[in-house]
Amino acid sequence: MTPLPLAAEAMTAEFAAEWLQDARRRTLALAADLSDAQLQVPLLPIVNPPLWELGHVAWFQERWLLRHYGGQAPLRADGDELFDSSGVAHDTRWLPPLSRTDILTYLQIVLERVLATLPAGVLPPDEGYFCWLATMHEDMHGEAFTYTRQTLGYAPPPTAVAGAGSPRAELPGGDVVIPGGEFRVGAEPAERAFVFDNEQWAHPVQIAPFAIARAAVTNGEFAAFVADGGYHRRELWSAEGWTWRNGARAEHPVYWAAESSGGAPGWRRREFDRWLPLGDDLPILHVNAFEAEAYCCWAGRRLPSEAEWEMAAAGGPAPAEAAKRRWPWGDSPPSKPGAIAQWGGGVLGCAPVSAYPAGDSAWGCRQMMGNVWEWTASPFRPYPGFVPGPYRDYSQPWFTPEHRVLRGGCWATRARLLRNTWRNFYPTHRRDVFAGFRTCALALP
Ligand code: FE
Repeated sequence: MTPLPLAAEAMTAEFAAEWLQDARRRTLALAADLSDAQLQVPLLPIVNPPLWELGHVAWFQERWLLRHYGGQAPLRADGDELFDSSGVAHDTRWLPPLSRTDILTYLQIVLERVLATLPAGVLPPDEGYFCWLATMHEDMHGEAFTYTRQTLGYAPPPTAVAGAGSPRAELPGGDVVIPGGEFRVGAEPAERAFVFDNEQWAHPVQIAPFAIARAAVTNGEFAAFVADGGYHRRELWSAEGWTWRNGARAEHPVYWAAESSGGAPGWRRREFDRWLPLGDDLPILHVNAFEAEAYCCWAGRRLPSEAEWEMAAAGGPAPAEAAKRRWPWGDSPPSKPGAIAQWGGGVLGCAPVSAYPAGDSAWGCRQMMGNVWEWTASPFRPYPGFVPGPYRDYSQPWFTPEHRVLRGGCWATRARLLRNTWRNFYPTHRRDVFAGFRTCALALP
């Protein structure tokens, strides 16, 4: 499977069919092992009922490819009413009596019709765009399906193989000093890649010199913050963060539990339905922006801005590296999946922060793609000249101070979504997503 962000000219019918079918195989595999009882999930603001989510994926593909692009009549009279995420309130997603058979049939019919209508050869740009959009949308819901399984304590997704990731490696540690300067943040139109509206378009940003960690913060490092009373020291938290901490009564990361079986006191962590040793050199995972910032305050550090993050991932020290790289290691996709980053969802969970040295950025930062989404200090804002894409509600409703930018993708993110300019965004309080962070020095050494 090619992880390239596709140039418009390369979206042939064969390619589109391969991606659409591949995304669908993953979607079905992520739900196939769930029992009927497991499909009845509690009403939580951070999850979607799985059958609703599957129906929404089918509806989205129908909405854009068959109805919007193809001009076809709706397949279901109740489709918009049930599955339009912009139009239906979140808690009503629990109400409709959806049957698994009904939803699987809807998924199948939509995809069959889409595939049947693809013309041969290179697709017209609009059709190529909507094939890309439907694939990306389905991939993103696949990641959401995966963290919903974590939230609910279900078994790991059957699509992920345990223990198949890259082993730990040599890591110089510490910070990389980046001299700053003018940097073009965002996607370049000249790439002619399909990109979301929020990446459009590259624009110059002046970045002051900064020092950024080569690796993400680890469980071991975060445990020292917890042990030092980090969750109980008001002075380490922002006002909003402290309000959240008190409301949530947070004492430690959400999926940690104190280890009580003999020896020195320590922690275990829950990964899906199993409790595991903490893994001191694994990245801290499932913390929100408030927890990340409190840790930074304790450590005398700060979160990077998204511009700093992108410069560390895509820029380089040598003049030859002045052109932005598509991925931290360069412009070429990995020769084989899993060789260069823990991404794609085929390997279960995170790798040690030292793993995958071949994926280093030109500045020497490790794992800027995959493993854990990284919180930044930047609120999610439009780039200058922002124009919403056809799917108007993808970005625009979320340009609020409560939404923060996260960068880099996680172990469960499909590789074809990820690139150095990709922007994810979540509310600051979300701990259920596969997010950690890396830090910057407060001052240059
Ligand atoms: Fe959606």
